[in-house]
Amino acid sequence: MAERNIKPHAIIIPFCFQGHITPAINLALKLASKGFTITYIHTEFIHQLISKAQNPNSSTEIDFFAEARKSGVDIRYATISDGFPQEFDRDLNFDEFWDSMFRDFPVRVDELVGKIIQSDPSFVHFLIADTFYSWPAAIAEKYSLVNVSLWTEPATVFAIDYHLDLLKQNGHLPFEGNFEHEIDYIPGVQPISKKDLMSYLQDNDMTTTLLKIVIKGFEQVKKADFILCNTVHELESEALSTLNLKHPTYAIGPINFDTTFSKISVAKSLWSESDCTQWLNSKPPGSVLYVSFGSIAQSSKQDIGEIAKALLLTGVNFIWILRPDIAGLDETDILPDGFNDRMNDRGLILQWCNQNMVLSHESVGGFITHCGWNSVLESIWYGVPMICYPFITDQPTNRKLVVSVWKIGINLCDGEQLSTGEISQKINILMSGKTSDDLKQEMKKIRKTMHSALDMDGSSQKNFDQFLQDLKVKLY
Ligand code: UDP
Repeated sequence: MAERNIKPHAIIIPFCFQGHITPAINLALKLASKGFTITYIHTEFIHQLISKAQNPNSSTEIDFFAEARKSGVDIRYATISDGFPQEFDRDLNFDEFWDSMFRDFPVRVDELVGKIIQSDPSFVHFLIADTFYSWPAAIAEKYSLVNVSLWTEPATVFAIDYHLDLLKQNGHLPFEGNFEHEIDYIPGVQPISKKDLMSYLQDNDMTTTLLKIVIKGFEQVKKADFILCNTVHELESEALSTLNLKHPTYAIGPINFDTTFSKISVAKSLWSESDCTQWLNSKPPGSVLYVSFGSIAQSSKQDIGEIAKALLLTGVNFIWILRPDIAGLDETDILPDGFNDRMNDRGLILQWCNQNMVLSHESVGGFITHCGWNSVLESIWYGVPMICYPFITDQPTNRKLVVSVWKIGINLCDGEQLSTGEISQKINILMSGKTSDDLKQEMKKIRKTMHSALDMDGSSQKNFDQFLQDLKVKLY
């Protein structure tokens, strides 16, 4: 890619959550494997979490990309303070944290980007930042950088967020009065009901921090030069084609499964992963239900109790990920009395695991998921049908794609109180019987589409190459 002896250099700044970090690192590796120089920037908080997850007994920060560089790619990292000490609880103090992220963080990003640019005149630099950040356009403009926005959720969600103005004009942001009918005017999005919108749009509260993040992010993204989406064109063709009319948009997913750089391994996990391979090996094919609500969602002790009772009632084998903060850090003893004794060797409760390893194991036959986008992509990649139990943000909308559009999962608790009866009924439906067979049939088709997208001549690879060509024109 060397043009006029000036090499392209991407400054990549992911959003500070697990579901955004993994695709951003993989994008960094993919670009590096194509000959780009990369500076990948984590917040110090995230960097320390990953270091600790790698080596809990050491306080030394690790250079995640050292191994990658040994394989010949030019990828460096830098860190930046998010303004708070490591022990500050960013979830509990979400509003205070984000006030500072809106106000002070951009100043630090600006300084760091300025320094990086000054340090090496032999590069032509460009910026790849997460769509949810409130500052990329201003920084790109200040340093005359090509501005690439990285979107780590479905294109359908992007299309809805992109058209918040339409929701406002139609009295749907916030919702006026009772709202029964479907929203049928978002370009590229099939009619969608209120319950399937993202949580921050259902809230009817215009002052939530989540909504502020989205509004600010989407003001910015309209000024981006390119948008990269971690999705597959064939799975969301209408939303993507419509977006493409407004902005150059490239579906390049699922980036986490791209094999063009798979030999390079980089630490990405924010928590230590428990190894459950031996346990999985001891279970019959398709017999294990995997239960996980991702890295952010929090449940209540009551709902966890209902799920626990249902898991015991159905007799299914299961792995259940219960992060220490799953019901808030103050809640201890969240499982019903005697649960551990009754589950015996049938179940495994872990704080965090290598989810891809679990989903790829032949003993896993179903997934109760919160419908985080990465979890959905991973479940499809490995062909595991889902029970959808969304909590916040894009998860209700992702569920609509899984259940109503692709028909590879079933609903749990559609606005109702979660009950042992419903959960056990849904587990039985997912793990055996006619509906289970139907879900598997549909899953085969969607999975094939997803795998094909990453073939050498597949849509995601072609889109990525097209992005590189268009980027080159813009850079030089
Ligand atoms: N994950 C994992 N181990 C776990 C639970 C989750 O590695 O025990 C990973 C999972 O593979 C996925 C990410 O964490 O890549 C969660 O992202 P997702 O978009 O599904 O949900 P979020 O955490 O953003 O709500």
